[in-house]
Amino acid sequence: MKKIILYGIFVIILIFTMPIVFTNQFQETEEVASEKTEEKFEKANYGDLSTIRLLHKDTNEVEEIEFDTYLYGVVSAEMPASYELEALRAQAVVARTYTIYKIVSGSKHENADICDSSLCCQAWISKESRLARWEENKKDEYWKKIVNAVDSTSGRYVSYQGQPINAFFHSNSGGITELPVNVWGGSYPYLQVVATSGEEDYTGYRSEVEVSKDELIQKMLEKYSNFQINFEEVNCIQILDLTESGRVKTMKIGNVSLSGVEARAIFGLKSAKFGFEINGDVIKFIVTGYGHGVGMSQTGADSLAKQGLTYEEIVKHYYRDVEIK
Ligand SMILES: [Zn+2]
Repeated sequence: MKKIILYGIFVIILIFTMPIVFTNQFQETEEVASEKTEEKFEKANYGDLSTIRLLHKDTNEVEEIEFDTYLYGVVSAEMPASYELEALRAQAVVARTYTIYKIVSGSKHENADICDSSLCCQAWISKESRLARWEENKKDEYWKKIVNAVDSTSGRYVSYQGQPINAFFHSNSGGITELPVNVWGGSYPYLQVVATSGEEDYTGYRSEVEVSKDELIQKMLEKYSNFQINFEEVNCIQILDLTESGRVKTMKIGNVSLSGVEARAIFGLKSAKFGFEINGDVIKFIVTGYGHGVGMSQTGADSLAKQGLTYEEIVKHYYRDVEIK
């Protein structure tokens, strides 16, 4: 109990002191940036957050890593290093914000602040593993780019009314982002439906999944033991309504009504923005975008960077009425 109270006090102190710590640092970073000393950016003093306790899911070991060094591993795991530098900077700021939010709002993990799984917290890869996966002639350039993206934004995070935001991000919005209420429930004033052009040029924008009628029945029965369908009926599969962003809100498959998010999980679709066709024995889902669709789209960020937007403009495109501290 005492531990919980102490932790509560720590969190309260953190909430009030963090903006001060980051605001001071922001000025320093600006000065350094103005000298155009690329790759020699001064790092922020993160105070109580100077090290992150990172849980490695595969070994169950907890590693303490300096905050920005942890972010090298996140940015290089979450976004291709071939993307524009401004997109990588936006990713660094968003990943930093996501990490701070996770710690301040209470970690899911008992002895760690965050884990290295994208399914649970946020993806992370070690420098060694990352370098091993890049082509030999790209290793040096790509790693420097990642380090630059993190160091040149050191200490900077996204805030709404003075508090770090819950900075969701995903791979490809399919041209338009989704409200969190349609994915997990809940809403945040800074997470709205946002359109972005240029995402159709990326792999992951369009995909298809085909299932046979038998496979569909099998997959539905795993979730709904009372599932029944008569493929002779015209509307045996039907999309009932769409969300504000055009994703499937609810649909009917046989005698079961389910959400688009649920159908996405059952059939392994890349997103809930889909239509379908029935051709003979095959049901084909035609999917647009990749991921839950909430917050910043990574391909959208790269597309906006190519259009000349800075990382600050990219972040503000995806999160409404926010400031970058
Ligand atoms: Zn986790």
